[in-house]
Amino acid sequence: MSTYDVAIIGSGPGGYVAAIRCAQLGMKTAIIEKYDVLGGTCLNVGCIPSKALLDSSHHYEDAMKHFEEHGIEISGDIKLNLKKMIERKASVVDQTTKGIAFLMDKNKIDVFTGMGAFKDATHIKITNGKKKETIEAKNTIIATGSKPSTLPFIKLDKDRIITSTEALNMKEVPKHLIVIGGGVIGLELGQVYHRLGAEVSVVEYMDRIIPTMDSSQSKELMKVMKKQGVKFFVSHKVSSVSKKGKEVTVTATDKNDKEVTFKGDYCLVSVGRKPYTEGLKAENAGVKITERGMIDVNDHLQTNIKNIYAIGDVVRGAMLAHKASEEGVLVAEIIAGQKPHIDYNLIPGVVYTWPEVASVGKTEEQLKEAKVEYKMGQFPMRALGRSRASGDTDGFVKILSDKKTDEVLGVHMVGARVADLIAEAVTAMEFRASAEDISRMSHAHPTYAEAVKEAALAATDDRALHI
Ligand code: FAD
Ligand code: NAD
Repeated sequence: MSTYDVAIIGSGPGGYVAAIRCAQLGMKTAIIEKYDVLGGTCLNVGCIPSKALLDSSHHYEDAMKHFEEHGIEISGDIKLNLKKMIERKASVVDQTTKGIAFLMDKNKIDVFTGMGAFKDATHIKITNGKKKETIEAKNTIIATGSKPSTLPFIKLDKDRIITSTEALNMKEVPKHLIVIGGGVIGLELGQVYHRLGAEVSVVEYMDRIIPTMDSSQSKELMKVMKKQGVKFFVSHKVSSVSKKGKEVTVTATDKNDKEVTFKGDYCLVSVGRKPYTEGLKAENAGVKITERGMIDVNDHLQTNIKNIYAIGDVVRGAMLAHKASEEGVLVAEIIAGQKPHIDYNLIPGVVYTWPEVASVGKTEEQLKEAKVEYKMGQFPMRALGRSRASGDTDGFVKILSDKKTDEVLGVHMVGARVADLIAEAVTAMEFRASAEDISRMSHAHPTYAEAVKEAALAATDDRALHI
């Protein structure tokens, strides 16, 4: 039987990053993945394929709607080849997952393909069809991720009533896509198919979309996406979903208790994801699972069994790839005897619609609730030369800073490339910068980043220069 310093169950951005860091720290490392391909949700059916389709559909929309205003005329029809678009996405995924296999090899990490299940706290049985083997591990990191969740009365048929996984592999563009849940997946994939020609209706239970982000972002994104043609039904509680032939019917009640019926040909259910621990046999190792199905961990991501840790979507906190990766590094370093730290307040959140939405730190709602006195500086993208040059004038950068100390407490953005711009805010906040610190840094002209400087000036003393 092979013995390892660390075995990692699950090869998503939590698991594979943990494996690399363990190997870098000199530990004999194994990674176990039930699928033949490494990379988990993120690389196979999450972050990477969704971004590939967002980029492709963005090009299509630009060619259809915006090239002309730039003086580019296309003679002949612009045609969508969905099959090719999906094939390109598959090849992006393939290149990316092969990259992980290369990294495992380079770092001398043993890869086991098969379902990993605890026999006890130090032995894991790996089952791949008829092949069964057991390895011994001094430490184990559970990184088994999550799966789409649904509502109790919805039967996902994965044909017309679908999750993000099927929505990334469509054979046709829906005529009318009904999206249940105006969160990240619903908006990103809703926008993909809207760009490709579908009518898209987003039905959201809360009174705003992306309800965990700053409410100014919900408002702005909904305004822009409405302008693009997406329909929104907020404060709508879905009560039933049914299918007859090619027709899907969704019923909901609005805030006045009036029943509303939606008819479409596809329904995307995007109401969140749930931790995945099926088949893991955590009970054989004595590992505690919470009522909500998560692996219970302490601040060091250690379970109630001292040599077993858990990271990523299967534990509490944001279900984000970069959060899972940070946790993978943290646990590897803890096992190696180091004292690493993660500031969860500074894990950024991004929605890759266009305009993009990005956030870090506290929202205005959170500051109000915590009774923290703050200043707010906001700068609209339309006032930037760079935005006018590209034609991306929607959105803003908003900086919230402490009223007394001027320390930046939250940065919230909507606009072109803000998924990348948020890194500046994270850096500033990691170093506990004040709004004035940011306002005194030189920002290249013309860039979208100038909006960060201008918002910082606005927060400092209402001193924005270009508005
Ligand atoms: P996962 O990536 O889910 O990996 C878990 C792995 O464990 C899987 O490969 C699974 O097969 C394997 N496994 C489970 N049980 C066992 C077992 N018993 N034995 C062996 N293997 C097992 N996040 C972002 O930060 N940015 C984005 O842009 C983004 N886009 C997304 C788009 C979509 C459509 C979706 C669905 C998600 C997106 N996410 C995004 C979320 C992101 O994918 C997850 O937060 C991330 O993948 C979590 O990583 P993880 O390592 O915890 O788990
Ligand atoms: P989400 O939590 O982002 O959004 C779910 C939405 O569904 C919420 O707005 C919620 O209010 C709504 N909802 C819940 N129950 C409902 C009901 N009965 N009727 C109508 N609406 C209802 O979840 P998601 O969009 O499914 O994404 C799952 C996870 O994947 C998220 O945690 C997210 O972090 C991650 N993800 C991240 C990215 C990214 O980082 N860009 C992209 C995709 C997914």
